[in-house]
Amino acid sequence: MRTHYIFITGGVFSGLGKGIISSSIGKLLQYQGYAVTSIKIDPYINFDAGTMRPTEHGEVWVTDDGGEIDQDLGNYERFLNIDLNKENNITTGKVYYSVIQRERAGEYLGKTVQPIPHVTNEIKRQIKKRAAESLANFVMVEVGGQVGDYENILYLEAARQMHQEGKNVLFIHIGFLPIPNHLGEMKTKPMQHSVKALQAAGIQPDFIIGRSSKEMDEVRKEKISLFCNVDPEAVISAPDVENIYEVPLILEKQKLTEKILSFFGLKFKPSQDLIKWQEFINKTKNISKKVKIGVIGKYFDTGDFNLVDSYISVIEAIKHAAWHNDASPEIIWLDSKDFEKDKKNLFQLKKLDGVVVPGGFGRSGVEGKILAVQYCRENKIPYLGLCYGLQMAVIEYARNVCGIKKANSLEIDETTEHPVITILPEQANILDKKQYGASMRLGAYTAELKANTKVRNLYMNTEEVSERHRHRYEVNPEYIKQLEDNGLIFSGYSPNRRLMEFLELKNHPFFVATQAHPEFKSRPMRPAPLFNGFLRAALKYSTNYSQSELKKD
Ligand code: GLN
Repeated sequence: MRTHYIFITGGVFSGLGKGIISSSIGKLLQYQGYAVTSIKIDPYINFDAGTMRPTEHGEVWVTDDGGEIDQDLGNYERFLNIDLNKENNITTGKVYYSVIQRERAGEYLGKTVQPIPHVTNEIKRQIKKRAAESLANFVMVEVGGQVGDYENILYLEAARQMHQEGKNVLFIHIGFLPIPNHLGEMKTKPMQHSVKALQAAGIQPDFIIGRSSKEMDEVRKEKISLFCNVDPEAVISAPDVENIYEVPLILEKQKLTEKILSFFGLKFKPSQDLIKWQEFINKTKNISKKVKIGVIGKYFDTGDFNLVDSYISVIEAIKHAAWHNDASPEIIWLDSKDFEKDKKNLFQLKKLDGVVVPGGFGRSGVEGKILAVQYCRENKIPYLGLCYGLQMAVIEYARNVCGIKKANSLEIDETTEHPVITILPEQANILDKKQYGASMRLGAYTAELKANTKVRNLYMNTEEVSERHRHRYEVNPEYIKQLEDNGLIFSGYSPNRRLMEFLELKNHPFFVATQAHPEFKSRPMRPAPLFNGFLRAALKYSTNYSQSELKKD
């Protein structure tokens, strides 16, 4: 079967949930028995997302092969339950880098190298190469940004050319339909304009999906159909939903899968898997038990919205694990700087069922995080440390249990006498040369798990596990013995035993941390083992903890 490409473009404004809609369509096609992959195009000039601040572009998604890519790829992995490759993210940086390297190597000798055809050819080459390598029947290609932006013109042109070259390209345009308060009516004009911009780039959308707070009515559908030159049946409504995993069902109800397949001359068949997905969604809707999870975040100065984007995988992993345990999570954001200002603020932690210290970089707020870890350890509140969260747990234990009062991380204090978290020579060399791009310990690494530990137990007693990494610093091998002699259990390490990957404590309901980012492997119906264990412990803690005790404090 030849590869089919579905290009997804966006209009009106960014952040419409194009990635979620595109992942949902991919899911529906996967449930029809097809192999699906996705490519995200990001028109920025950075080579990858690794050098961008999370508040700038959301979380950096890490792939098994060490790619630091756009967080939208996380949605594709979660929805489609596949592991993507760094080449599933195409950026302008990558495209031009390759074109310039080819020019230097004399591949275009004698020619003037131009945006069209050389850059567009390179875009098409990268798309087709990834499609061929992934053996996909359907490739969802999401063009980041909005039609009408200067920076995505060449991508639209490449897509137009691919459509022209073969009969295997379909265009879906997603736009927003506002309902201004003072009118109380859904307006289609901004959508019409965005479709005009797309048509000006030579692309006629085959389907139009309208994002809006409410469902689109027939009147609007007909209007869009008339003004945008599409069949009324090809106008699809995607209203806001509480649970993003519901989107495939909303699209399916409007027969989108059937319509897409018929466009390509393929047959639709009802899917048993979709019924299971529906059951899963029904279950999440009928959950009454709540679990309160505190996440100690960092990017408060830029507002709550950025917070969610910066920690999206951690949030999703908490949700997956909570649903799996028949609970719905309430996520409470905690600013560690509040604990630095006044230790009394730590009392807030007592009202939670569990605390997560997620990944992070730099000095700000770390002392507050260390205080929070101490509070969770001493008050036996379930604790899950992710990457920086493991490093904070080691510093806290070294200071307060091993008595190494000045223990610190070299990242936080370059002159510390006791760098319990340090930089190993291979990383130090990279930093000396100021090579910041893609230079951390990145991607999937194997860890051996120690027998009879909580972590090994959570991983179903497997001896070796693989999780994704993104960090520069490590537990200092010189302090391992002292930490262990004082009761800290390193329950997983690299096969050469040099890098500590997991830790845990005895006599605590749940105190587990990892140098890895297990959140990247969590899937809606397959929670990450550590998150699952953490949520179970949090629920148990919540039932055991009496409210009268809380009042007493
Ligand atoms: N800043 C720490 C390091 O580089 C932790 C990174 C992280 O949490 N992802 O090692």
